[in-house]
Amino acid sequence: MIIDEKQIKELLDTAAASKEAVSMILERAGIGRGISLEDAAALLLAEDSDTLEALFRKAGEVKDKVFGKRVVLFAPLYLSNYCTNGCLYCGFRSANKGVGRKALTPDEAVFEAGTLLEMGFKRVLLVTGEDPRFDLDYIISCVKAIYARTGMRIVHVNAPPMDTGSLRKLKASGAGVYQAFQETYHKPTYEKMHPSGKKKDYDFRLEAMDRALEAGFEDVGIGPLLGLYDYRFDALAAIAHSKHLFERFGAHAHTISIPRLRPAEAGLDEVPFQVSDTDLKKIVAVFRLSVPSAGVVVSTREGAPLRSELLHIGATQLSAASRTNPGGYSHEKGLEQFSTNDQRSLPEVMASVVTEGYLPSLCTTCYRVGRVGQEFTRKTISGEMEKFCQANAILTLKEYIIDHALNGMKEVLSGTIEEGLKDVRDPSIKNSLLAKLKEIEEGKRDIFF
Ligand code: SAM
Ligand code: SF4
Repeated sequence: MIIDEKQIKELLDTAAASKEAVSMILERAGIGRGISLEDAAALLLAEDSDTLEALFRKAGEVKDKVFGKRVVLFAPLYLSNYCTNGCLYCGFRSANKGVGRKALTPDEAVFEAGTLLEMGFKRVLLVTGEDPRFDLDYIISCVKAIYARTGMRIVHVNAPPMDTGSLRKLKASGAGVYQAFQETYHKPTYEKMHPSGKKKDYDFRLEAMDRALEAGFEDVGIGPLLGLYDYRFDALAAIAHSKHLFERFGAHAHTISIPRLRPAEAGLDEVPFQVSDTDLKKIVAVFRLSVPSAGVVVSTREGAPLRSELLHIGATQLSAASRTNPGGYSHEKGLEQFSTNDQRSLPEVMASVVTEGYLPSLCTTCYRVGRVGQEFTRKTISGEMEKFCQANAILTLKEYIIDHALNGMKEVLSGTIEEGLKDVRDPSIKNSLLAKLKEIEEGKRDIFF
């Protein structure tokens, strides 16, 4: 069984959340090897402000221990907003008869990816609705076209659950992470929110990550859509989901996303279960402590100030400059999936990451050198990953400074590199890093550890 709803409920009913109990859990969590579901439940129940401060601090420490100061930046690329499903919260749902449906052709997808590359992005997340006219073959043709005709270094995919054979083909096209959110792990709520279309099937969705890993994907991304049901239940279930994958495949979820419901055209009138900013901070911190190897991804569904705060308590990936309609980077106006809450450009987001004391990173190395799946989980939890992350972030920043940054930004980021170099403690890595930086100055690109 992937998720035992009864067990999740019982844990939340019985977890010990006294101040003393929580401080002992935080001590255990500080080692950075994860905590039990019972401990995670106790942390999710904490309400007292001192306890929450201690939780946030500990999560920030564990983040630094595992990934160093780097924060990875990426952009979503919406391929198609045609959808035959009826998800009540989503602007793309079939009942929304508004205008602006579009499916990019592979040529147009290449153009959008090219626009993102011009901005400086090196990784992209393809996103699409579910429609038999724009199925697996369509997604694969876009993935392949982007690799073949642009310099995009890694293409991740957020697409509807498929059977194992289809997932095997998607993996063979070169897709990096396969991502699909369960939305809610609470079956009755799931069934209410997904009244029609293929997505009605809770179990087919829940089993998608097992199928993806069986099909050869090594990295998968999960997440609850926060606001549909009690966040404590859905956050704990997402942790249980990752633990299940670890037990079965030896690798935790590569990423856990924290999408929080946003207004959408023809979407829900009200958020069924409000999730406050403090709740969201708690969720990020508990994900960080429970699954330290996972990237915790914060999208532009959240506003700039909160995104900055989340960096200090365990978030490791930010999307930036996002458009949620197909063709959005080419300034087309079509139907958005939801309205974003942070419209800043990539340099603006980079500048705020720097202001918070973190190192913006455009790194894509692990997927390309095979530091994935079990090995990624093992290396992050054992503390070996931090040195790669730090060094590769510096290398990608150097490329960005030379190829994309405008004047003011060049100085800011050069200062960040100087600061970042101070944190590289291993002398052999440092020497090699300095040599690689020189190679980048001399025109070489795409070099990494
Ligand atoms: N159509 C595919 C699917 O449902 O799996 C691909 C993903 S969908 C385009 C991306 C994700 O956006 C959904 O899985 C859902 O979690 C999230 N989403 C949908 N509507 C949203 C809304 N109104 N606010 C915030 N996130 C939303
Ligand atoms: Fe379609 Fe995905 Fe939106 Fe549901 S969440 S309506 S499946 S695009």
